[in-house]
Amino acid sequence: MATVEQRYQHLEKTIRGSNISADFNQIRAAFEYAQAHHGSQLRRDGTPYITHPLNVAQIVAEMRLDSESIQAALLHDCIEDTDSTYEDIAKRFGTAVADIVEGVTKLTRVHWTTMEEEQMENLRKMLFAMSRDIRVILIKIADRLHNMRTMEYQTPEKQRKKAFETMEIYAPIAHRLGMQKIKWELEDLSLKYLDPIGYDEITSALQERQEEYEAFMDRVQEEIVRRLDELKIENTVYGRVKHPYSIYRKMYAQDKTFDEVYDLFAFRVIVNTVADCYNVLGAIHDLYKPVLGRFKDYIAMPKPNMYQSLHTTVIGDDGIPFEVQIRTYEMHAIAEYGVAAHWKYKQGIQSDNKEQTYEWIRRLLENQEDADAEDFIHNLKVDMFDDEVYVFTPRGDVTNLPAGATPIDFAYSIHSAIGNSMTGAKVNGRMVGFDYVLHNGDIVEILTSKSAKGPSRDWMQIAKSSEARSKIRQWFKKERRDENIANGRSAFEAELKHAGIPMSAVVAPDILEKVLKPTSFNTLDEMYAAIGYGGYTAQKAVHRFQVELAAQQKAEKAAKAEAAKTADNKPKPQPPKRTRSEKGIIVEGLSNCLVKFAKCCTPVPGDDIIGFITRGYGVSVHRKDCPNASPEHQKEEPGRWITVSWGEDTHLNYATALEVVCKDRNNLLVDISTAISVCKVGVANLNVRTTSDGFAIFYLTINVTDRQQLDAVMTKIHNIPDVIKVTRTAA
Ligand code: MN
Repeated sequence: MATVEQRYQHLEKTIRGSNISADFNQIRAAFEYAQAHHGSQLRRDGTPYITHPLNVAQIVAEMRLDSESIQAALLHDCIEDTDSTYEDIAKRFGTAVADIVEGVTKLTRVHWTTMEEEQMENLRKMLFAMSRDIRVILIKIADRLHNMRTMEYQTPEKQRKKAFETMEIYAPIAHRLGMQKIKWELEDLSLKYLDPIGYDEITSALQERQEEYEAFMDRVQEEIVRRLDELKIENTVYGRVKHPYSIYRKMYAQDKTFDEVYDLFAFRVIVNTVADCYNVLGAIHDLYKPVLGRFKDYIAMPKPNMYQSLHTTVIGDDGIPFEVQIRTYEMHAIAEYGVAAHWKYKQGIQSDNKEQTYEWIRRLLENQEDADAEDFIHNLKVDMFDDEVYVFTPRGDVTNLPAGATPIDFAYSIHSAIGNSMTGAKVNGRMVGFDYVLHNGDIVEILTSKSAKGPSRDWMQIAKSSEARSKIRQWFKKERRDENIANGRSAFEAELKHAGIPMSAVVAPDILEKVLKPTSFNTLDEMYAAIGYGGYTAQKAVHRFQVELAAQQKAEKAAKAEAAKTADNKPKPQPPKRTRSEKGIIVEGLSNCLVKFAKCCTPVPGDDIIGFITRGYGVSVHRKDCPNASPEHQKEEPGRWITVSWGEDTHLNYATALEVVCKDRNNLLVDISTAISVCKVGVANLNVRTTSDGFAIFYLTINVTDRQQLDAVMTKIHNIPDVIKVTRTAA
């Protein structure tokens, strides 16, 4: 086994191969610093810990990254696993290196726990969002590659978990960045742990036939080289068997056995110029029979990840098909190392010049055409323009919020009840203020209490998302209704006094009705509430009454004059008929009509209610505060809304729906069921949704006789520990 020093020498040699002007003093210093700080730490396989950063640096050197990247690779675990700090590294190696190390550390601290497909794309995006510098992600990929290479010493559970992450996150990123060679190795290593049986089947079949395959590949290679030499085209040609995971995918996607897999072999012909590429293509098609429809010109039409080559599949004399990829040396470097190959040309550019640093990657991304990639680019661009932030829930799900978002935005993005009962927040385990600005990768935990007072007015200024702001506004509108009514009333009365109008004039039924009808308010309280929360002004309200009172006085005068002329007495209008309906509902002016209770708000006796004449099914009864019975709705079809009230014989059971928001824990369901049964109330339906943030939301339908019984049940449920909020569901 090579000594640590031998490994370091090997690293230096690799760097000299591509970057003779690298800062070898600093690289040596970084190696010694990491070695000193990791000290006697050992890896699972018993080797000194320093072998890991050395190997990661080796991979980074093979990617031909710059001197800073190699230093950062050597130092990449120092902040996380030793007593070294960002400041110390910045002092010795400069802020550029320290920034990269810190970026890699942040990615290392991210622990994916979720396994849902939709989350994966988010995680990939977040990785990018967190890596302000593309070198961070390249080093992280190298880190992952070495860890996967040495995964056999880990527990089976960790092997599967890391293999899954690698397959879902890191291999796709390597692909997006055009790093085919690393992508293949990551896929093969992942497959080994994700499907050991399938992996063994393929690798042992490949091994069994190795001699046969090598003989075949040598023969083909010779034939091609001989022909190209005749044509005086300078060339490098080699053959390979396709990698196990790509064979695996073909076997499983097409339900084939190993022997039925069509093309196992690929040959590469690397030449100097693009013109040579096309000449080689002609020579190959002359030597072997091309398979129709398999020729692809990725030189004229590069792949989304900037990959360029000519591909063709041909059949040899013995009937074995194989693929030939033809490309220039430059195309080859890009195919193997993707964005990393380009990084080489970026050396010397100030890394704080974001525009230039990202120029190539932006170009790469703009080339991606499929819809999935489009979304990916969008999110990447968004990150470049800094208007989104990705944070974690305590259980590892990713949530994205507008840049500048605070814990308040996070809380409301889970559920309005969580926001409304929020008392504090922790970020990465530490208490923070409500106005703390969230950063990419933060783990955010919301603290709640059922005795929380609710949002305060200044939250409106702190919250960045329109979702949070509108939920806060709603809370002020709804929960503070009584307060708003009281404030609105006093403002209105003061204004009224100022105008010299007595309250008795306002509440006279004919005046009140006429004033309110053209507005969106059904009652004086609604008008007061609107004045209270600032949606309407007392001045406007009083003005309406003034106008109406003046009009009425005028009409009265005219009527008196008229009455003096003609003494005829018109018959008084009939009072509206009151009709009893079978469900304890009195519908004014309609007899024998069918009554049903609206599913959206499930009213019970004691609720303020209103009826809607439906098309063909009689009257549907809503709670007056149901969003479906809002003033806007009533204005749309004024003729269909009708006054209804509860009769005296409401002895039936009424089904009504509740939503219970809780902090999730064991036995919640039992506690809620007990609370309900203690009140002697039946449960008609019960559903629960748990959120990944540690909350549970119960949706229940219970049968109650009236509002009083319902209130008792709600109070009982609310008193259960960990229940945050109980609300009646509406719409
Ligand atoms: Mn590492």
